[in-house]
Amino acid sequence: MKNVDVLVIGAGAAGMLCAAEAGKRGRSVLVVDHAPAPGEKIRISGGGRCNFTNIHASPKQFISQNPHFCISPLARYTQRDFIAKVERRGIAYHEKTLGQLFCDGSARQIIDMLVEEMTEAGVVLRLGTSVSDVAKTDEGYVVDLDGGAVLCRSLVVACGGKSIPKMGDDRVRLRYRGKVWGRGGRDAAGARAADLRSNDAGKARAAGRRGY
Ligand SMILES: Cc1cc2nc3c(=O)[nH]c(=O)nc-3n(C[C@H](O)[C@H](O)[C@H](O)COP(=O)(O)OP(=O)(O)OC[C@H]3O[C@@H](n4cnc5c(N)ncnc54)[C@H](O)[C@@H]3O)c2cc1C
Repeated sequence: MKNVDVLVIGAGAAGMLCAAEAGKRGRSVLVVDHAPAPGEKIRISGGGRCNFTNIHASPKQFISQNPHFCISPLARYTQRDFIAKVERRGIAYHEKTLGQLFCDGSARQIIDMLVEEMTEAGVVLRLGTSVSDVAKTDEGYVVDLDGGAVLCRSLVVACGGKSIPKMGDDRVRLRYRGKVWGRGGRDAAGARAADLRSNDAGKARAAGRRGY
């Protein structure tokens, strides 16, 4: 059975950034996605130019059952870190309104940046790969994938929200949560996932209103 330190399910913004950071820390990382291309939601974000961060982002802008949950991660990885990453890659950007930063060119530049960072960190990306089962073991998790099972010490479920089902969202994260963390559990990861889901749904509704 193939063995990796970290298996990430989902090659969206969250999964790719997480995979690249884990790879930079010397972990062997495999990212799988059932879609044929990574970062499809990034591609349509910000009307195709990706509003990749906001200068004024702070814990105050996050709604959560646990308002303290986002403080530590946001302190350890700030919008300035992401802006520095974008600048290092020479991606031109501009401020639109109220601190929103957009690419001058295409959102695809952000996808390419994340894929390049994963490649440089030795991360393996497998697209068109479905996950059929996850089982907890003493060593970590056994994940059944197309092409065989993989054993990983850490499993990251970054399957996104349900805002646009045709972009690959499905209910898999909830099924995995039921299995890995206990159905209906109010763990921090679940609370965060719920935040992202409602945030995404809100953005999709707003997108419909704005017509992008
Ligand atoms: C129209 C629109 C515009 C937006 N504009 C912006 C913006 O300008 N700025 C901004 O910050 N945010 C924007 N957002 C929100 C932003 O795009 C999302 O919050 C973000 O992309 C979510 O990233 P993610 O990695 O959590 O999930 P996703 O991007 O949804 O990635 C999840 C990945 O998991 C994969 N996956 C799902 N289930 C499985 C499975 N069972 N097996 C394998 N793979 C699976 C999917 O194929 C997908 O690639 C916008 C959203 C929408 C809908």
